[in-house]
Amino acid sequence: MRLIPLILVACTAPPLPAPTQSPSASPSPSPSPSPPPSPSPPPSPLTISITEHPHLDTWTVTWTLASASASASASEAPAIIFDRRIPSNRHETWRLADGLVWDVDPSGDYEVIRAADGAARSVFTATFPSDTREVGRAPSLNVRFTDGSRLLFTAQVGAYGFSCAPRCLRLDRDAPRRWHFHTSPGRTLRVLDHAATGELVWDEPAGDVRGTYLYAGSIPPTRHERVTLVADPGLPAWLTADTARLLPELFAFHGDATGVALDFVPLVLASYASPTRRDDALRGKTLPGLIHVEAIGSAWVRASPARRARLFEVLAHEAFHLWNAQLARRGGDKRDEWLSEGSAVYVAGLALVDAGLLSPRAHEERILAAASDCIATLRGPLHAEAADASYYACGELVHFLVDRALAGRGGVLGVWAAVIAHARASGSYSTADFLREVERRGTAAPGGAAVAADVRRILEEGLGADPVALVARMLDDARLPTRRAGGGRRLVRRR
Ligand SMILES: [Zn+2]
Repeated sequence: MRLIPLILVACTAPPLPAPTQSPSASPSPSPSPSPPPSPSPPPSPLTISITEHPHLDTWTVTWTLASASASASASEAPAIIFDRRIPSNRHETWRLADGLVWDVDPSGDYEVIRAADGAARSVFTATFPSDTREVGRAPSLNVRFTDGSRLLFTAQVGAYGFSCAPRCLRLDRDAPRRWHFHTSPGRTLRVLDHAATGELVWDEPAGDVRGTYLYAGSIPPTRHERVTLVADPGLPAWLTADTARLLPELFAFHGDATGVALDFVPLVLASYASPTRRDDALRGKTLPGLIHVEAIGSAWVRASPARRARLFEVLAHEAFHLWNAQLARRGGDKRDEWLSEGSAVYVAGLALVDAGLLSPRAHEERILAAASDCIATLRGPLHAEAADASYYACGELVHFLVDRALAGRGGVLGVWAAVIAHARASGSYSTADFLREVERRGTAAPGGAAVAADVRRILEEGLGADPVALVARMLDDARLPTRRAGGGRRLVRRR
């Protein structure tokens, strides 16, 4: 069966609620277009009940289709579908209740649980072990803490009833879904600032499929200035302390840069994976209202200036997603991810310079590395789903070019301040809004019109037949002269 293309969760989960079109041909199930959120949404047509079994490190999920009215019997459907295609590996590890089978879209994009006999039913159940695998940039289904705490990413479990009578459509119609969470008595369950022991009910915001992390465990949150922190007790103390200290500073930096202050206290979940393995990795994710940061490997036990700077950079990057994905929402076009990721990478670099952790000269070296990465990976336009691997490097390069050209007009942060203000007034932002603002400011700045044309060219056409020459010329215009190196494929500073 061929279902609609759905939006992936990035390093963050910035997109607006996704499914809006249905290219599939009848009789394949095809979710219908989503209407705008109604001021009084209908009762939840689907209840999702999740039970954590901490001693087995497994989870049982039951999806129950509810009736639209209290007096009517439960609705029935022949299948439930999952609203994320990444990771598309649920069918590898999830064990279904008797009478249910997996149906995987031949493209591999979508997974469906349906009754083996094709009959409609109101209850679907599956059990699975905690799964920390990462597929693409999507948050993993689960996260393990060293003390036995777990996270569960709701968007990987979120499903919708699906009916084809008389025509195929998703049964949610953008109604809110109600989630019931259960675990052992005495163990805490938390969704953002809602917490309870043993049981927790969460009403997911209507029409927002970005999901959140459920926390299950026994770590008491600590309140810090502008942050609520749930930190793995196995984490090195310096890393936990730096996280609590740096985030308020970064919120202040981003707030000053964009003209919009953070108007909520985010939840920060800090975990430690494989603390005895000889590894040295760090990753972050941002979901609505929360940041998850995870240190991986034994190297983090020892603080060093380089590791402190890496932590700073990951926190700065993720924190900026609270601005470009939450205070201002990005539209649902996957192609705009170059903009949300490129800005987060670039602003993190500016924050490093501001904090004295990166010299201006080292920042230029970083831009040249991004430029070389962009040259090496971008084939065709940047504003394209196929350019996914280039979003970070080319996005950082574009932001640098704009920042230099518009230095007398507020730089690229001035552009972002306008984009965010526009998005907060209109609901969301897109690449077109960014480009329009660059062009508007560019008309009054020397070189501004040229950089606007360059950015449009990268977005719409790419780097052309001689990408090294083109990028070298753009960097030259940005007062960063370069020469070719690495057999002519890379750019380094010209002395
Ligand atoms: Zn990111």
